[in-house]
Amino acid sequence: MDVLRFPLIGRWLRGRWSRAVLQGGLLLVALLMVYDGFTGPPEPHRNLATVLAWVHYRGLILLALLFMGNVFCMVCPFSLLRTVAPGLARRGPRWPRVLRTKWVAVAFLFLIFFLYEWLDLWASPRATAWVILAYFALAFLLEALFQESPFCKYVCPLGHFNYVYAAVAPVQIRARDAQVCRACPGKECLNGSDAVPGCGTLLFVPQVKSNLDCTLCLDCARACPYDNVQLALRSPLAELENPSTWPRRLDVAFLPFLMLAASLSNALGMTPPFYDLLDVLARWGLASAGVRMFLVFAALNLVVPGLIMAFLGWWHRRYLPGYRARTAVAVLAPALVPLSFGIWAAHYGFHFWTTAWVLVPVVQGFARAHGLDLGTPLWQPHFLVPPTWWYPVQVALVLVGFGFTLWMLHRRSQRAFPQVDRQALVFPWVVVAMLAAWAAVALFALPMEMRGSPAVSH
Ligand code: SF4
Ligand code: SF4
Repeated sequence: MDVLRFPLIGRWLRGRWSRAVLQGGLLLVALLMVYDGFTGPPEPHRNLATVLAWVHYRGLILLALLFMGNVFCMVCPFSLLRTVAPGLARRGPRWPRVLRTKWVAVAFLFLIFFLYEWLDLWASPRATAWVILAYFALAFLLEALFQESPFCKYVCPLGHFNYVYAAVAPVQIRARDAQVCRACPGKECLNGSDAVPGCGTLLFVPQVKSNLDCTLCLDCARACPYDNVQLALRSPLAELENPSTWPRRLDVAFLPFLMLAASLSNALGMTPPFYDLLDVLARWGLASAGVRMFLVFAALNLVVPGLIMAFLGWWHRRYLPGYRARTAVAVLAPALVPLSFGIWAAHYGFHFWTTAWVLVPVVQGFARAHGLDLGTPLWQPHFLVPPTWWYPVQVALVLVGFGFTLWMLHRRSQRAFPQVDRQALVFPWVVVAMLAAWAAVALFALPMEMRGSPAVSH
C-alpha cells in the first residue's frame, strides 16, 4: 500500500508546494509563540510559547510518530528555507567531512536536554522564545551555507529524536521497482532536478532501509522522473526486527542508549531526589548551579550509557568470537528503542493528559489581550485521564515498551547471529533493560512537577 497513491491526499502530498504550505502554517504558529513569549504573560501556563512547546508538541510527537510517521519533520518550519529557495546553497561547499557523524547530533541532544533543565525552559516563556529564534537562526544559516541539509542530517536534536522513534512508524520511503532505479541515469531522487531539490539528508531511495534521517519531505517523490518512489505502509515492527536496517556504526548505535538515558534523567529532573542530589554536590563545594547540573546530566546521559556500551562490547568479544564488538553492539542497540519510547510516552503523556486543556484559556487570554473576545478564560482543570489512572497507565506504557524491547532483542539476535549462544549474548542487554524499566516505574511513583500547569504536583 502506497500513501502517495491514495486518492486526493497522495496527489496533494506530491504537489510542488504542499510541504511549503504546511511549513508556512507551522511558521505562523512559531511566530505567535515567539511573540507571546516576549510580550505575553510571564506565567508558563498562561503563555503560548511554553504551553505549545512543552505540553502539546511533546505530548503529540510520539502519537504522531507511532500512527503517522515523522510528520513533525515534514511540517517543520526550520527547514522552510530549503523548501522555498532550493537553489540557494546548491553551489556552496559540502558539510565538513570531520563533522559528518551522529556525534554532532549527540552533542546537540545533550545540550538541549541540559539547557531545558538549567534554564528552566518549561517555566520561562521568554527563554523558550529565545530558543525558538536560535533554532531558526542556526537552521537557516546552515541551510543557506551548505549544499546538503546538514542541520537536519547532523545537528537538529528534535529531528534526531524523531529519526530514532520513526523506527516504529507505519510508513517508509521505498523504490517501487528496483530495476527502474538501476537503469535511471540521473538519480534525481538524490541529485535533484532543475525544479526540485534532491534528498537534503543524502538518502538514495533504492538503498533506503529505514526511517533514519528521513524527514518525510517527499522531495525524492517529486524529483523522480519515473514516479518510482512510494511512501509504503509497513508493520511498525519491521524496521526494529531487521538487524540490517540501521548502519552498524558506533555513533548511530549510541543514539538509542542516549535516548534511554535521557528518558530517565529527564523524568528524574522533575522529582525530589534530583534536587537532593544537587544539594549534596553543593555541600561538596560546587557553588555554581549550572556546573552541578551539567555534571549530573553529563554523567547520566553520556558517561553511564558510554560505560554500558563499553561493557556490552567487552561481553560480546567473549560470546561472539568472529564478530567485531562494535558490530554486535550496533546490531542490538536499536532493540532499546521501544523501552525508551514507552518511558517518554509515560512522561510526556502525563504532561499532556494533565495539562492539554490549558490551551483553551491560553488562546482565549491571548485573543482578549489583542482585542478579540473568545469568551472568559476558564482555569478549572480538565484531565484527559482520571487521576487514579495516571500511575497505572504510566506503568503499563513502560511495561509494553519493555516487552517489545525483549522481543526485538530476541528477533535481532536470532537473525543476525543464528550460530551463537543467544541467551548468553543478550543476557546483559536484558539486565540493562530491566534496570531501566524498574528505574522508570520507581521514578513515576514519585511526586512529579506538573510543568506548564497551574497545579504543582501529584
Ligand atoms: S527513485 Fe527515481 S530518481 Fe531515484 S534512482 Fe529510482 S528511478 Fe531514479
Ligand atoms: S528519502 Fe525522500 S522523503 Fe526522506 S528525506 Fe530524503 S527526499 Fe525527503
